[in-house]
Amino acid sequence: MTQRELFLQHVGQTSETPLCFEVTKAEGIYLYDEHGKAHIDLIGGISVSHIGHGNKAVLKAIHEQVDRYLHVMVYGEVIQSPQVQYATALAECLPQSLNSVYFTNSGSEATEGALKLAKRFTGRSRILSFKNSYHGSTQGALSVMGSEYWQQAFRPLLPDVYQYTYNDDAVLQAINTETACIILEPIQSEAGVIIPDPHWLQAIRRKCSETGTLLILDEIQTAFGRTGSLFRFEEIGIIPDILLLGKALGGGMPMGAFIASIDLMNTLTHDPVLGHITTFGGHPVCCAAGLAALSFLKQENLTEGIIQKEALFHEFLQHPAITRINSCGLLMALHFDSYETNKKIIDACIRNGAFTDWFLFAPHALRLAPPLTIDESAIRQACHIILKSIDEVL
Ligand code: PLP
Repeated sequence: MTQRELFLQHVGQTSETPLCFEVTKAEGIYLYDEHGKAHIDLIGGISVSHIGHGNKAVLKAIHEQVDRYLHVMVYGEVIQSPQVQYATALAECLPQSLNSVYFTNSGSEATEGALKLAKRFTGRSRILSFKNSYHGSTQGALSVMGSEYWQQAFRPLLPDVYQYTYNDDAVLQAINTETACIILEPIQSEAGVIIPDPHWLQAIRRKCSETGTLLILDEIQTAFGRTGSLFRFEEIGIIPDILLLGKALGGGMPMGAFIASIDLMNTLTHDPVLGHITTFGGHPVCCAAGLAALSFLKQENLTEGIIQKEALFHEFLQHPAITRINSCGLLMALHFDSYETNKKIIDACIRNGAFTDWFLFAPHALRLAPPLTIDESAIRQACHIILKSIDEVL
């Protein structure tokens, strides 16, 4: 049997039409297929590979940690220096009120932990979330996902969850002394890169503070330079009570985190003890990789050129079939008239050497979230492939 047949036979599937692209190597901004052909990676494993594939510093950190120890004990009991160093480095990048980092294995688990922490800390159960938001696929995260289509087959989900619309002031009335938390993304990525009004976000922050409601900000897709600063909330001028990280956090290794003040976080230590537990969360190899990736990002000042790179994409991607480009830094959505059109263009891009896909709640939009290391000539080449692909299929 071929690799493709074995993949379809034995690897649990999530769609009837998987991309079935066979990756044999990944280096820098390129993915290599089974024929050795290089494809520009325009999505970085969905906002993960922000410093490119196979970064030498990350590989070195992984190798060194592999030689020291792998898993030694469940989370939170023993002192593992990669974990301590990474949590400290993250706290140093964040405001004083975000100084305690709980490492998980994924973004979804970070969402789960944060929702539990909010309920435990406030003693309240009501949760507010938004239509077209994505926070993960586990039961709690699915409960706050903003799409009936993806939720309906799995009900009953968490009770006491209410959904609102982005930029609608109605949510401000709903934040009251009975609300445990409100969870939102500073940019709705899977909705096709929807950027909320900063004033609306600031008003939410104020209302949360007035009512003792915790503001959970999901920066799983937006953090680590993608929007032009280390964290998107810095650009908006708000500080969340709980910050969610994932994706690029592990430098290519599986990781998530929810981050809060030490006082807030410490409520998970009692009533009940072990209020949130994980075997593998904060795995030492993942922490070593994540720390190396963060150090590289800062050392190379990668956040600096992001807005210029975004502008280059806008300059080069001129085509009547592109109805709109939504973007914030290197998180971009090219909107077409339908999913059918978009799918044909995506398939053509992949045939022509640029790897991309669509968005969960915006299937008519093509995703661009390349490694931040992409340079002008690669941007030019990528845009050329996209334009050529549009012309080929329309
Ligand atoms: N939150 C956001 C904004 C995401 O984009 C994702 C994943 O795409 C998640 C949460 C869930 O992360 P994971 O897939 O690591 O569980």
